[in-house]
Parts: sequence; C-alpha cells; structure tokens
Amino acid sequence: MDKFSLVDIKKINYSDVYHYIYNNAGSSKQAIASALGMSLPTVTQHLNSLLSEELIQKCGQLNSNIGRKAIAYSILPNARISLGIEILENYIAILAINLRGEAIAKRIVDIHFEKSETYTRQVSEEINLFIKDEIHTSPHILGIGFGMQGLVSSDGKEVVYGQILDYTGLTIDSFSKYLNYPCRFVHDSECAASSDLWNHKEATDIFYLSLSHHLGGAVILQGNIHPGYSGTSGVIEHMTLFPGGKECYCGKKGCADAYCAVSALLYEDETLEDFFTNKTAKSKEHLKRFDKYLDNLAIVINNIHMVINLPVMLGGHMSPYLEDSDTETLFQKVCALSAFPETESFISLGTREKSAIAIGAGLPFIKEYLDNLAL
Ligand SMILES: [Zn+2]
Repeated sequence: MDKFSLVDIKKINYSDVYHYIYNNAGSSKQAIASALGMSLPTVTQHLNSLLSEELIQKCGQLNSNIGRKAIAYSILPNARISLGIEILENYIAILAINLRGEAIAKRIVDIHFEKSETYTRQVSEEINLFIKDEIHTSPHILGIGFGMQGLVSSDGKEVVYGQILDYTGLTIDSFSKYLNYPCRFVHDSECAASSDLWNHKEATDIFYLSLSHHLGGAVILQGNIHPGYSGTSGVIEHMTLFPGGKECYCGKKGCADAYCAVSALLYEDETLEDFFTNKTAKSKEHLKRFDKYLDNLAIVINNIHMVINLPVMLGGHMSPYLEDSDTETLFQKVCALSAFPETESFISLGTREKSAIAIGAGLPFIKEYLDNLAL
C-alpha cells in the first residue's frame, strides 16, 4: 500500500467517525469502533482530532453496570453555518443554517426589489449587519445562497430566466463583491425541494411542487434534483393549462402559474395567513375559491402523473397551511380526472417550515461540507 492511499484511508475514517456521531448522537468510543470496524486507538485518534477542531463535543457519560462509565459524543451543530437569503419583491429573509439544516437565526428586512446597484449593495449591507449581530464565529460561515424566483445557471453565478422580478442576467458578483464568502444563486423551487428532501430523506423519487408566490416544480430521482439537459426539467409552471387563458408573467396565456401559484389564489394584499384563517372559519367565499384552486391544481397533478409515475409532494409557502383533508380532497379530484384507477393517494405534504426556501438556499453549502469532510 503506498503512502497516498494510507492518507486517503485516514481521511475517510475521520469522516466516517464524524458521520457516525452525526447520525448517532450520544455514541461511545466503543460503540463507534464496533459499528465502523475500527480499532479503539484509531477511533481515539479521530475523536481527539474532531474535539480539537471543535466539530464534536463530549456530551455526558453513558450508564454502565461494569467498569468505568463511557463518555458519550455528539456533534457541535453550529460548528459551521451557511446563510440562506430569499429575495422577494417587498422584503428579504436572511437565515443562518447549521450543520443539521436548522435555522438558528432569522431576520426579515423590508426592501423593495429594484434592478439597481443601490439594491444589491443595500441587501449585501443588511447581510453583513446580520452576520455582525447574529454570527459570532464568522470564519465558520461556509457560504451564502440566494433563493431566486427564476432559473439560474448550473454554476449558480447568473439568473438566466428571471421574468418575475425582471432580473434576467443578474450575476452573483453584484452581491458577492460586498460579501467575504462564497455566494451562489439557487432557483427557489429547487430551494423548497432541497429543504423538504432534507427533512424527508425517505422521499428519494418524487415530483415536487412548490406552491409559493409563484409555482415551481422539480423532478427528484434517487434523492437528487434531475435538471434535464438544459436545466428546465420539472418547470411545470409554464405548462399550458387553459389555451388562451389568463396571462402569465412569461408572456404566454393560460400557463399553470396563472392558476396554481399562491398569487393566483390570493387577492392583492391578502396573505396566506388571512386566507387560511377564513377558510378554517368556513367562510363560504374562501371555501369556494379554494375549491376552484384545487380543481386547477388537480389538472396539473393529473397531467404530471400521466407523464411521470412518481408520488407528488406539495411544498413551498402554502404547504404549512395545508391539512391532510386538503390533500385528500385534491386526490379525489385527481382521481376523477385520471384515466387509471388510483387506490392509494400519492400526494403528500412537505415540511411545515415557513422558511423552507431560505433554508434550501443555504443547504448546498452544508451538504457539500458534510460530503467533503473526507477530502
Ligand atoms: Zn408562463
């Protein structure tokens, strides 16, 4: 065995010990050695490295009837963090996300979007202020992800289609030149999907629908977002639902977005909170509007299901407000349209997290860090 491969094995073992503790908080040295098939001295060596790098901590002692009590180890979830920013028309959300994908700090700042240098500078200043106020270990920031209402280039450096807020062509440099961390754009429906998949690791093959201010979709295969050959796979929002129908922001008429986005359900100045409070109170007008909305969403889901036979997960801004009875109603509406009998519902709800898009914007940095610990 040459020297290079020995170094490799050492790194892999180091990563394996960390990941074992990540997935089994409160493990003892003996349990780690036994589970990973490593010798106790090897595990001890890696535990000492992880402790000195402040990636793990001792978290008490395990009960034992014989001999000395074993020390239990757990990860330090805030040892590294990333920031997720959601850029919306009237405000930005800034979140700090730890190694468990949990939001540990959040700030909403009212800034009206405009395509200008002043705007990107102002947003960057707010992010730097948030870091100063909330993050006391800024060298441990892995990067900053910006959740954008638009398609982004595969390297995350440019918005290649951003008609909603008219920012097609916006480059990441316009923010990153003010920020001392790696930055990238992430498509907002991809953010919502990443966030939900993080919390539903069993959902490896699904069609994901983001019911947010605008509609979005993503095909998830083997746990990864399937981009398609030009990155537009799953862009369900511009599927024609009613030819010649309502205008869509893309310039066409009758797209699914014009009927199934949150903006299509709500009146101007109405919030999801307002709408669902009234729906819960059985307001006839709200129930009727919601029923019509589900009719249209059922057409979209049925069409998706005819093309790709995968379970459908509903996420995005609306998901925290939906109840199981809503997905059941939706499923019945899909069944009425389907050419094939469906016996079991294939529609599920994603996370109840209202900040799913901002969290999903920061997750790529966390995933990369965890995946590359051995490198
Ligand atoms: Zn459209």
